[in-house]
Amino acid sequence: MKTYTEPSRQIPVAAEVDVLVCGAGPAGVGAALGAARAGCRRVLLVEAGNAVGGVSTTGMMSHWTGSTESPLMEEICRLQSRSVLLPEDEVGKKDNYICHEALKNAYLRLLDEAGVQLRLYTNVVDAIVEDGRARGVVTESKSGREAIFAKVVVDATGDGDVAARAGAAFDMGREGDGVCQPVTLMFRLGGVDTARCISPGSFETTVAVPAGEIQALARENLPPPAGHVLLYRQHLPGEMCVNMTNVTDIDGTDAAALTRAELECRRQMESIVSFLRRYAPGYEHCYVVASASQIGVRETRHFRTLHTLTEEDIVEARQFDDWIATRNHFNFDIHNTRGAGLDAHGAQALFRARGKYTIPYRSCVPEALDGLLLAGRNIGGTHKAHSNFRAMPICLNVGQGVGVAAAIAAARGIVPRAVPPADIQAELRRQGVNP
Ligand SMILES: Cc1cc2nc3c(=O)[nH]c(=O)nc-3n(C[C@H](O)[C@H](O)[C@H](O)COP(=O)(O)OP(=O)(O)OC[C@H]3O[C@@H](n4cnc5c(N)ncnc54)[C@H](O)[C@@H]3O)c2cc1C
Repeated sequence: MKTYTEPSRQIPVAAEVDVLVCGAGPAGVGAALGAARAGCRRVLLVEAGNAVGGVSTTGMMSHWTGSTESPLMEEICRLQSRSVLLPEDEVGKKDNYICHEALKNAYLRLLDEAGVQLRLYTNVVDAIVEDGRARGVVTESKSGREAIFAKVVVDATGDGDVAARAGAAFDMGREGDGVCQPVTLMFRLGGVDTARCISPGSFETTVAVPAGEIQALARENLPPPAGHVLLYRQHLPGEMCVNMTNVTDIDGTDAAALTRAELECRRQMESIVSFLRRYAPGYEHCYVVASASQIGVRETRHFRTLHTLTEEDIVEARQFDDWIATRNHFNFDIHNTRGAGLDAHGAQALFRARGKYTIPYRSCVPEALDGLLLAGRNIGGTHKAHSNFRAMPICLNVGQGVGVAAAIAAARGIVPRAVPPADIQAELRRQGVNP
């Protein structure tokens, strides 16, 4: 590959803070709130997009999934349900479905009340590392190239862009072959007769329709690797959320691959709408209202951390002494890496675990890099464990715990790995988290 040597240059220092959170998805919002509510005054949340929420909002996600308990998620859902942005008859409804615009504002309100500083439209492009310790990041935005220094950096970018730039060790995707789960561009349909429409919510949900069984019809009629039907209700009249575009063999950290995926998903959207109009009761007159402003990437880097979360940890419902996220529960949601539907190792309706599991602090601490914590889907775990902990309520819980740890480390002037888990847990309990 041809290369170019950038000239070195001086750049302005845009901020010096205690806790810098990079990426404002569920994990980043959780981390910023966890840190600020733990008393940290200078928390800065930096986000590449124009809104907070990551996949939950700009990724146009349908719902908070699984049966994870999370006081913070309940608070967020409660605030969303009271939003003036909702249709009047939807206000006050208690459920886990997402209204993207109301959710964006709910997050913003909580962040504002907690005193979190926010910088949108800002890409984190490099890490500042001295003597094996992350000291801050370099950003690019309309304001140019800038530096931000922090006592503790939290990488909640989903892909772990900051940790990777800082040199933290990671493995891509599945053990052995590095293959990652497929990507999906979510979109919303209008014009649906929601009183009688079908809404299969998992690959294992089959629905009889006049022409046959809907999942089988999708496999026969949609262009591969599309070929499954996942449809979710919305809070807006006549709208449904569609999780049916599907592109395999995509490296979510490669812009050219993401571009290819985006274009393929947009082609698939046309086939999916025609398919639903023809075969799915209630969708005869549907049309596309909007698509996500970022493609949904399920899996990329798994960082090497002090503990690698495994399938057994989840199935056995392990209660770790150094827990920072509790009462987590979801299935092994591994999408087929070669086509439509569920991978042979995935289990949705058939998933069994002994109970709800915890996530240890050690899974958020990179093996050999100081000054930085991981939060969200990028923490240390196997491909299979990741298919479970990538659920948004779990990422939010992890974020909150990591934010608390970061606040303690910053206040005491110690590296994050030196923070006693018992102190993180005491603060989490104060924030309403139950072990
Ligand atoms: C298609 C799809 C369907 C899913 N379905 C569900 C579901 O139904 N329910 C559920 O609970 N979970 C679902 N998930 C899983 C879940 O949405 C994600 O695993 C979860 O959102 C991860 O949270 P996160 O905060 O770690 O990352 P993200 O939500 O990805 O947020 C990362 C944020 O960081 C920002 N960012 C990234 N890089 C940079 C950078 N370099 N500089 C600055 N900002 C950056 C991004 O813009 C984004 O806002 C789904 C995921 C996908 C992709």
